[in-house]
Amino acid sequence: MISMRAVQKHFGRLHVLRDIDLQVPRGQVLIVVGPSGSGKSTLCRTINRLEPIDSGAIAIDGVDLPAEGKALAALRAEVGMVFQSFNLFAHMTILDNVMLAPIKVRGQARSTARARAVELLDRVGIGSQADKYPAQLSGGQQQRVAIARALAMNPKVMLFDEPTSALDPEMVNEVLDVMVELAQEGMTMVVVTHEMGFARRAGDRVLFMSDGQIVEDGDPESFFTTPRTARARDFLGKIL
Ligand code: ADP
Ligand code: MG
Repeated sequence: MISMRAVQKHFGRLHVLRDIDLQVPRGQVLIVVGPSGSGKSTLCRTINRLEPIDSGAIAIDGVDLPAEGKALAALRAEVGMVFQSFNLFAHMTILDNVMLAPIKVRGQARSTARARAVELLDRVGIGSQADKYPAQLSGGQQQRVAIARALAMNPKVMLFDEPTSALDPEMVNEVLDVMVELAQEGMTMVVVTHEMGFARRAGDRVLFMSDGQIVEDGDPESFFTTPRTARARDFLGKIL
């Protein structure tokens, strides 16, 4: 579903992604961990070309990501992204937030977009809040809306970049529970998170990144119990 081949990315002289080769099969839940600055966010952002790459190739469901233009917009719509900050439109209701992209990008009729938005908001447990504005919701609720908004585009892949790290602790699980359900339904997911409980519950595979490289790539249980490299042991020692 996601294929990255020999991907290189610099920010000026800083080499942020070093020769990344990564194949993510359909339905896999890939957890990405690593120290701050190791390139996790950049990896996510290149997957939907929010960041251009210097060289290499990225394909989604067998289609190479074009560098720009209409083809890029179409392919980008297949990849949903949820960030640490929820990025909801403050002046729009929850329902309108979820309906916006399907209408603007997919050209859906309002009635179609509304029906789907209502269904998705129910699914993430926010159905009764649809007419409220983002500021009237808790952080956990806003993040669930952000997930519903991404799902409204019927993406083939969902990217989550530290989706719970801005939340108060008591709200973390309500967001992770929605993500676990999504994983169980077979969504292909890339999740940058240090929530180890989630990684063990829902993750099929863990990548450990350090200095722009994939240093370990394995199953969650072995990674968290017996990491192979000193860098991973050092990192886990700091977050555990
Ligand atoms: P992580 O998500 O693992 O913390 P990032 O992918 O955000 O790491 O960043 C990797 C490196 O690239 C860091 O050194 C960061 O400072 C740098 N970086 C990220 N975005 C930019 C940017 N837009 N311009 C310049 N440097 C950046
Ligand atoms: Mg980051």
